[in-house]
Amino acid sequence: MNFENTTIDGVESQLMNRLKEVSFLRVSLVLLLSAFICLSTLLSLTAQTNAQAVKTKGQTGQKLVVQSARIVGDKSATRIILEFTTKPKYQLFYMEKPNRFVVELDNGKFEFGDDAALNAVGLVINTRYGAITSSKSRLVFSLEGPAQLSNQDLQLKNKTGAYRLILELTPIDQSKFSSLIEKQISLLGASGGTVIKGGRVRSPEKKKGIFTIVIDAGHGGIDGGAIGSRKSLEKRITLKMAMLIGDALQKSGPFKVAYTRKEDVFVSLKQRLNFTKRQHADLMISLHADTLKQKYVRGATIYTLAKKASDKLAAEVAASENLSDIVAGLAAPDAKDDVTDILADLTLRETTRYSRAFSKALVKKLKGKINLIKNPQRSASFAVLKSPDVPSVLVELGYLSNRKDEALLTSDKWQKIAVKQIVATILSFFQTRINANAAQP
Ligand SMILES: [Zn+2]
Repeated sequence: MNFENTTIDGVESQLMNRLKEVSFLRVSLVLLLSAFICLSTLLSLTAQTNAQAVKTKGQTGQKLVVQSARIVGDKSATRIILEFTTKPKYQLFYMEKPNRFVVELDNGKFEFGDDAALNAVGLVINTRYGAITSSKSRLVFSLEGPAQLSNQDLQLKNKTGAYRLILELTPIDQSKFSSLIEKQISLLGASGGTVIKGGRVRSPEKKKGIFTIVIDAGHGGIDGGAIGSRKSLEKRITLKMAMLIGDALQKSGPFKVAYTRKEDVFVSLKQRLNFTKRQHADLMISLHADTLKQKYVRGATIYTLAKKASDKLAAEVAASENLSDIVAGLAAPDAKDDVTDILADLTLRETTRYSRAFSKALVKKLKGKINLIKNPQRSASFAVLKSPDVPSVLVELGYLSNRKDEALLTSDKWQKIAVKQIVATILSFFQTRINANAAQP
């Protein structure tokens, strides 16, 4: 621990002045006060040291490789040990609701073979890692309870320039954890080191007669989404389907396709919404393939936005989808963004009517071609569907928790059929307007 000598000297000289001024006070009382002030200064400095983002001078430009990551220890002290090819540039911070400890790396990529090394150990119950922007990546450690960084040590391992970082976490109480976060927010912003903003891209010019369709591949980067029993990743399935649908759509009619992501990167829910808004999209389709507790449930489901979920299953799916930002180590979405505020908006009601109409049309086209869940048209409060003026649907293509669905979702044949039906639905949904545009001189 490093303490600023000047600060402590300052406290002592203040005390001396006070001693002279208030000479009637008994010496014992002053000593007690002195001890108290020194102690509280020490405590607040310790807390600050822990809460502050730790920046180290590292090499920039060159890609940093995380070669190994493991967790050792127990619930009284848990150590996270990371090994790097070069000196890492990193930031450390805490997040709550749920309690997490985050290591954010500049230009870092992960190349370690054994994921098992990151199993739940000590205070860590779960670890996720991956890219959150093109230059930042994170390791997000979900904590069993509130904990603080009690020690950190960055060591040069050998002559090759490899480094080892040891981070030690020890338990603290929730109120102390919250106060660490408060201090940190004033330093770093609510999302920790990287304040993730939607790119400042200008809205594209809207061309007459061309319909803009936003295709949103669910999850990505650090947020892998669901994992099937055969280890299929939701984020890969959604991206592949997004690209297939986009390609086919552009060939089928007067459509401009805009993708929220075209590669394996993390995109926050807010960024997805802002992107859709900037595009002045005519339709947004968000693609998913989640897991359910009920493993027997299978088949595609089309979700639209509703304040109140159509059923329990829809509510569960929405709750799990809305966790995406938390998984990536971002702050939970603002409560003020709640659907209740915008649901009152007449625009949204009109938009929802269109979303429902599209959902109905899609179910009709998919029926008999691919497997559908019982009651395939459902609704719930999905964050990604909250564009007030863009009709939006979230398609669960199937559920990775079901073995049969997993096999289909990853098969080229099934993908081809699903893509064909989705594209045909979009084309017929806009056909009246396409014809009207064509009739105009
Ligand atoms: Zn999903």
